[in-house]
Amino acid sequence: MNPKILELRTRMVSVPLSTPIISAVGEYRMWPYIVSEVICEDEIIGNSYIGPYLDHSMPAIVSTMHALFENFKGMALAPTEFFDEGMRSLSLLGRSGIALYALAALDIAFWDARAKAAKQPLCVHLGGTLGKVKAYNSGGLWLNDPGTLYNEARSLLERGNFEALKIRLGRRTIEEDLEAIEEVRRAMPKNGLLLSDFNQVFSLTEAIHRLSALDDQGLYWFEEPIKYYELQNYAELRGRLKTPIILGENFHGPDDAFRSLQMDNSDGIMPDLMRIGGVTGWLRTGALSNAFQKAISSHLYPEVSAHLMCVTPMVDLLEWTDWANPLIKNPYELEEGCVVIPDRPGAGIDFDEDAILKYTFSEG
Ligand SMILES: [Mg+2]
Repeated sequence: MNPKILELRTRMVSVPLSTPIISAVGEYRMWPYIVSEVICEDEIIGNSYIGPYLDHSMPAIVSTMHALFENFKGMALAPTEFFDEGMRSLSLLGRSGIALYALAALDIAFWDARAKAAKQPLCVHLGGTLGKVKAYNSGGLWLNDPGTLYNEARSLLERGNFEALKIRLGRRTIEEDLEAIEEVRRAMPKNGLLLSDFNQVFSLTEAIHRLSALDDQGLYWFEEPIKYYELQNYAELRGRLKTPIILGENFHGPDDAFRSLQMDNSDGIMPDLMRIGGVTGWLRTGALSNAFQKAISSHLYPEVSAHLMCVTPMVDLLEWTDWANPLIKNPYELEEGCVVIPDRPGAGIDFDEDAILKYTFSEG
């Protein structure tokens, strides 16, 4: 029998980033996380973390989580049923944005608890096997001075023997972007993959101009060159370029993924575990991407995403960052450019209590 769920415990933290983010959407030195524990019968605790970008958004999400949790308290753990019930109850608020983030945080913890109740790693509980997941190191190469990128790329490659990196582009001029690409390429192995991300910096016209100039650079993909919601413009852009176009970190739930896939406006999608609606939202989106014959990659949350990529067809690359590592006891290991899924029950994420206390976020 599945254990009953009893209590929800949430903490808000703000963790320093080892490499500051300098991107078209802003500069960040700290990263906010909501750390959650769903306490169940039989001393089973389901863990999750979400990073909702803006620290001041955390109290609203936490309060929504506690309100949603009241729908499930005392019930036997049933993550997919809870997800559907949660989505139904969110109809009045909207099935996206911070309301969906709150449901995602609960959903991830519910699945973690459910796999722990079965004494299995999450990917095994979902029908897969333990393994390694091919990844790229996404933890740097921001919009810094191109002259610094060679050394940075070397250290990103060395950590975990990566062969794939992601560079951020969309500098002031084409020449600066070309110089940045050249500096990173100098550091990379001959067959290494260089991915690129524009963080939505361009209008359609600017994107046509810039991406056409970069189209012969052999980049593995162009990620989010224009605003994430300009779905028709993605279709237009994709028709004009050779380099694959990818989007999806800003899909809010599987409904958004469906709309984009239906428009055939990308070469692959990369859902974000939080924005897509947690484990349940990811699994449903994985089924959609397979039906539309599109490759699927991940955005942030490398630990749970690694489990999910083991049970999702047509997977491409996992995005690796170590941003949450300060909060996690025994962070996941890297081997030959892969993330190694540990043989531990659930998602295998145990929080470091001292770190949570040290990085506690307080309002005001
Ligand atoms: Mg991105």
